[in-house]
Amino acid sequence: MEIINTVKDFESYRNSFIFNNKSIGFIPTMGALHKGHISLVKRSVDENDITIVSVFVNKRQFNDQSDYINYPVTTERDIELLEAENCDILFIPSDEDIYNNYEGHKMDFMGLDKIYEGEFRPGHFQGVVDIVYRLFEIIRPDRAYFGEKDFQQLAIIKLMTKQSGLNIDIVPCPIVRENSGLAMSSRNERLSDDLRIKAAKIYQILKKYSSALTINDSPGDIIKSIANEINKEDYLETEYIIFCDPETLRPIEKFEKNMNIRLCLAVWCKKVRLIDNISLHF
Ligand code: AMP
Repeated sequence: MEIINTVKDFESYRNSFIFNNKSIGFIPTMGALHKGHISLVKRSVDENDITIVSVFVNKRQFNDQSDYINYPVTTERDIELLEAENCDILFIPSDEDIYNNYEGHKMDFMGLDKIYEGEFRPGHFQGVVDIVYRLFEIIRPDRAYFGEKDFQQLAIIKLMTKQSGLNIDIVPCPIVRENSGLAMSSRNERLSDDLRIKAAKIYQILKKYSSALTINDSPGDIIKSIANEINKEDYLETEYIIFCDPETLRPIEKFEKNMNIRLCLAVWCKKVRLIDNISLHF
């Protein structure tokens, strides 16, 4: 695996014969890699000639400075994991290199940056779009892989790609979970063993309610019940829960036949903010 640290080096590598007529799969990450990230890498390795992973802890997408400061960095381990998956290139640029003379990328979020995650993390999605657009410009992949774990992010990246006319296939990948059901996340590293058990309750409660759901249920009432059950657990505090359309993300106020639905939520587990979602269909 080639490790590239500057945009300039990446560009000269890109202009060399190595990339000629090869399909390129790209996975942007913030490092502290786990099996969720690795599932994206495996998919890219299967579907492309060259797989490129970036590791960049993107300051602009953190609305909470302490979250940024405490974000885990595990570079040696990341390298080992990626080598074991036959990743071709690991791109680890610096802040200065990425943001030098780059103001960001303007897009019409169509309101998606202000709801759900956006309501509680002001500026977060603008930061995400800034970095992903910049990386797309540098890497110029054919396909880019994103986890459904960050469901709203995925919808916004699809919108940004479409609006800017980029010829990049955005590939959604399913959520990878621990055996307990807890969605894998780099932030789980900040949970003690006891808190991990608590955090696993989130998915267990989601499963319980989603499997008992009927078309006649009121989405608002179910949301209240799920929130109550989560908040009853020590150290868990719900920030939002929403039933939404998986394409438009608009909230669902009434269930109907043949409806595809995503139930998305954010929950604080002591000082760690966790997000998760689950797909439903009537
Ligand atoms: P991050 O490093 O958190 O920015 O995540 C990089 C990519 O990995 C994003 O597209 C995430 O949605 C994806 N990802 C993170 N956790 C998981 C997971 N548990 N399952 C699937 N994809 C994930």
